[in-house]
Amino acid sequence: MLCKIKCPDCSSEGTISLLETTYDGPYKCWKCRNLYAIELKNGALQSCKPLSQEEFERLQEIDALRKKFRKQ
Ligand SMILES: [Zn+2]
Repeated sequence: MLCKIKCPDCSSEGTISLLETTYDGPYKCWKCRNLYAIELKNGALQSCKPLSQEEFERLQEIDALRKKFRKQ
């Protein structure tokens, strides 16, 4: 499913594709390029925290690992 995320900084709406209706991971705004850690439940945004570049990259790695394990 596709989920709409509204950037808290510039209010631009971006979309991310999800395998499930819950998501806990990194999000990057396509417009202002701010980085966030977001939490979705039933496709609705629960929390959104600004991240540093380092934190974002770490979350991306964790997310990639999770996807990899899910496929096996
Ligand atoms: Zn933005």
